Amino acid sequence: MKVLVLNCGSSSVKFQVIETSLEMIEADTDRTLARGGVEKIGLSDSRLTLEVEGRKPYQEISEILEHRAAVERILKILVHPEHGVLADVREIEAVGHRMVHGGEKFASSVLITPEVEAGIEECVVLAPLHNPHNLRGLRAARGLLPDVPHIAVFDTAFHQSMPARAYIYALPYDLYLRHGIRRYGFHGTSHRYVAIRTARLLGRKLDEMKIITCHLGNGCSMAAVARGRSVDTTMGFTPLEGLVMGTRCGDLDPAILPWVMAMEELTLAQLNAMLNKHSGLYGMSGVSSDMREIEAACERGSRRAQLAMEVFCYRITKYIGAYAAAMGGVDAITFTGGIGENSIKVRAMAIAPLAFLGAELDGERNTHAPRGKEYVVSRESSRVVVAVIPTNEERVIARDTVRVLGGVMPSFAAPETAAPR
Ligand code: AMP
Repeated sequence: MKVLVLNCGSSSVKFQVIETSLEMIEADTDRTLARGGVEKIGLSDSRLTLEVEGRKPYQEISEILEHRAAVERILKILVHPEHGVLADVREIEAVGHRMVHGGEKFASSVLITPEVEAGIEECVVLAPLHNPHNLRGLRAARGLLPDVPHIAVFDTAFHQSMPARAYIYALPYDLYLRHGIRRYGFHGTSHRYVAIRTARLLGRKLDEMKIITCHLGNGCSMAAVARGRSVDTTMGFTPLEGLVMGTRCGDLDPAILPWVMAMEELTLAQLNAMLNKHSGLYGMSGVSSDMREIEAACERGSRRAQLAMEVFCYRITKYIGAYAAAMGGVDAITFTGGIGENSIKVRAMAIAPLAFLGAELDGERNTHAPRGKEYVVSRESSRVVVAVIPTNEERVIARDTVRVLGGVMPSFAAPETAAPR
């Protein structure tokens, strides 16, 4: 079946058309027919892009004022006689929507019913910068494609299997009960996908493996995946916790916040901007949030860029140690995301101190890992396999859409470990 996958942000809609089915998932033969998006929604120079394998990328600049108009443009270009890939929009049999936050309500991908929609709406308070746009995209797409099923795939669902000891903060318990303040984790579709692919690449059974997945992109997070289930992850109540990121600080002594607010006379909005936009690689280096620029600055001898790189990699190493302890061992460490897939230096620096754990990179393999391919970068003799797996969140969303419709979608709920209410 042809599935339209939509990922709606505040001023953008990204899409893919993916042909998939339960048989194609099994045989790993599902494929992307087209991908693209609309950027700068609300401006007079909104940009629509379309990429189809074997063709020149198509681009169009025009005024697209809101999400419904953006989805409308996407559907129109998909059936365009010259640039499109469909003869008729009726070829789209289902729509898979990326939803950022499913709170404790959603531990699985689900068919969107009025109750589900109300549940997603309730989670807006947890992700006020994301869920409203996801919902706007859903309503736009449903208005234009009312006769096909719409499925929600949540970033948080995979981490719902975490035990309470991993997700409860040592804060007054009332904050959890009254406001749902706990660790949720994000990037769940990516962690789940690369864990599955790692087991497949190694010819092993996922439910017999302990895997640490490192999603290193603009946002960075890691997960401890034991027997196919997330048992811990570095992002928390929001995506700010955990690893160092492009512009986010990750883990921090919380007492710094009131102290800096008082000393620098910051408002709450300024504090938020400091933590989310002016910290991380960018804040430490003063150079850039982009790892390629950091690496280039290191080459030029920038000591602050070098330090930023060291802090970034050291925290990954530390979490690998922590997650090996949490799972009582580790069989594989997987790198994904723009940095994880492409930065030879980050992989080398993060893994170098871990020989004691049985993880040893093969210098040659790490340096020559082919772009866009699934590849083992550890030595033959390394007890822990280190792999690079390109992530593909849209593919997971398309596959989950098919799984939900086929009644075979797994749930990641872990009621036996849920915190007392
Ligand atoms: P993503 O959010 O997954 O698209 O990843 C974006 C991050 O990947 C940015 O920090 C980029 O600098 C980084 N990145 C992309 N290509 C490379 C590369 N060849 N070497 C190092 N970092 C890269």
